[in-house]
Amino acid sequence: MKFGFDIDDTLIDLRAHAFSLYNTKLGKNVALEAFQALQRVEIHEPFGLTDAEGSAMWSSSLEEIYFTDCPSFEGALETLQALAQQGHDIYYITSRPKQHCKQTSEWMKAQGFPITEGHFFCGMQDTEKVAIIKELALDVYVDDKPAVLETLQDVKTKVILKNQSYNQHVELPRLNHWHDFLELVNN
Ligand SMILES: [Mg+2]
Repeated sequence: MKFGFDIDDTLIDLRAHAFSLYNTKLGKNVALEAFQALQRVEIHEPFGLTDAEGSAMWSSSLEEIYFTDCPSFEGALETLQALAQQGHDIYYITSRPKQHCKQTSEWMKAQGFPITEGHFFCGMQDTEKVAIIKELALDVYVDDKPAVLETLQDVKTKVILKNQSYNQHVELPRLNHWHDFLELVNN
């Protein structure tokens, strides 16, 4: 089968990692509960930052957010390694900015994620992912972001939603834990 995966906040816990970095960089100690209650993808509000300040903070911290020790979600790495071992095709489709694509692929490899030549798509807009997903004729695609998922309503691909606080309104098969992935795929 052909499996496609978003990376940030689907396979790896990027926003939580960034939240922790923000606490350090800003000399704050904002509790994780504030993070868990966020109703939007952006994380700056609990730090008292405006949208403009938050956007600037995200941009200036991006390399540190992307390429330090962001953990993957429990079971994600093992799930993808098992799929690869079973001979399935694994594709990554991430809208990370173009200038960070090469290093992202290398970073993912260093974490142990199986990456086949030509199976790593990066640098598109959220709304452009649908074209790649259709072209690849993926059997399954997993993402967390409502802006992406809204574009995938008419695809033949089985779309699975990685559970996050900001996507509770989205009605799709919901992946709460990576250990449940195969069960969701098969049902
Ligand atoms: Mg994502």
